Amino acid sequence: MDFSTPPALQEKLDLVSRFLDEHVYPIEAQVARDGFRASLPLLQERRERVKKLGLFAPQMPHELGGAGLTFREHGRLSEILGRSPLGHYLFNCQAPDAGNMEVLLQYGTPEQKERFLLPLARGEARSCFSMTEPDRAGSNPTWLGTRARRDGDFWVIEGRKWFTTAADGAAFAIVMAVTNPDAPPHLRASQIVVPTDTPGFKLVRNISVMGHEGDDWASHAEVAYEGCRVPASNLLGGEGMGFLIAQDRLGPGRIHHCMRWIGICERAFELMCRRAASREVAPGKPLGTRQMVQEWIAESRAEIDAARLSVLHAAWQIDTLGLHGARDAISAIKFHAAGVLQRVLDRAIQTHGALGLTDDLPLAWFYRQERAARIYDGPDEVHKSALARRILKGYGLKVGGEG
Ligand SMILES: Cc1cc2nc3c(=O)[nH]c(=O)nc-3n(C[C@H](O)[C@H](O)[C@H](O)COP(=O)(O)OP(=O)(O)OC[C@H]3O[C@@H](n4cnc5c(N)ncnc54)[C@H](O)[C@@H]3O)c2cc1C
Repeated sequence: MDFSTPPALQEKLDLVSRFLDEHVYPIEAQVARDGFRASLPLLQERRERVKKLGLFAPQMPHELGGAGLTFREHGRLSEILGRSPLGHYLFNCQAPDAGNMEVLLQYGTPEQKERFLLPLARGEARSCFSMTEPDRAGSNPTWLGTRARRDGDFWVIEGRKWFTTAADGAAFAIVMAVTNPDAPPHLRASQIVVPTDTPGFKLVRNISVMGHEGDDWASHAEVAYEGCRVPASNLLGGEGMGFLIAQDRLGPGRIHHCMRWIGICERAFELMCRRAASREVAPGKPLGTRQMVQEWIAESRAEIDAARLSVLHAAWQIDTLGLHGARDAISAIKFHAAGVLQRVLDRAIQTHGALGLTDDLPLAWFYRQERAARIYDGPDEVHKSALARRILKGYGLKVGGEG
């Protein structure tokens, strides 16, 4: 496994780092203060600058107007972009649109690509992904209450979802719904594209998360699907393929999430070190002279480096062994990197004292948004028990689910 960075990629990473320094970090506090929707003109202006860099939608192929980066190149870029809460959005590779683009690229019909994928890739529209439900455990994705019933040339969708990230202002949702309740669990659900102007699509509320409702892309909505009627041709892939498509989406997506978290860690680490070196707790005695703070810095450095290497190793396994062969590594990095993120952010906030909790710095935003890292895309406990079960199988112990 080669850890070196090819010069052409390094050039791109340096270019993006400079762009963040000059055009992104300076607007973070303003966007946090004014809200996302009110900041759209400013954000759009920055997106136009990104287009000129040739790195808009970096993960999409050239023919769709993207930068055509490979999976691992995009992972490296994701780390740099993760340094700002605005990074991925400005480069049009933000969740959940990035996952929706990948799924539409892989499973979309020519008509679906034209109608739904192209506007996303061009940054002209946004989308959301509606799987989790308030009344069913999201950690068991084979157990959904939302139903899609076939009625002639239409699907009629009935159900309630929540934590549909970025539904506010989205042009369409990709909805996971049960289409055949009698099929084996992994073949019961399908994914269907539902434009948000379909009668019966109701955005109930943006959910207040740790005191913040957010708006536009920076929000998580509760959505009711009340008899939403969409053409049968809006089905993604085939009937019963919902779970498979979700797995295809989540595997590589976890690498990108983890690399983004490592970017957040690096930013928090830098802020922590700067503060430790400059904040005096007594005349001539900066915080960094205190051993407890030194321990936070040393532990954080080691943990971030170890997490990055593990994630790159998992990406390498995906490239060489495929998703199935890499699943132990993917499970391991998902909970390990999320834990590192939480610890590093917490130490950085603690080092800043009260300042760490304000929106003058991005630390509070990161903390608020990313506590969720241990929950979304599979809670820690699900990944840990799946990994341990597979390991124990190698020792002859068959451990089934606990249900
Ligand atoms: C910020 C954020 C954004 C999100 N965005 C989206 C989105 O865009 N679209 C979408 O569809 N969903 C989204 N989600 C939902 C997310 O995928 C679910 O929250 C997640 O799958 C967990 O489901 P749940 O919340 O129903 O928790 P539950 O399934 O009720 O689990 C609760 C807790 O039980 C424990 N647990 C669960 N299973 C096990 C087990 N087998 N062994 C031991 N312990 C266990 C875990 O600690 C878990 O945290 C988002 C969530 C958050 C927080």
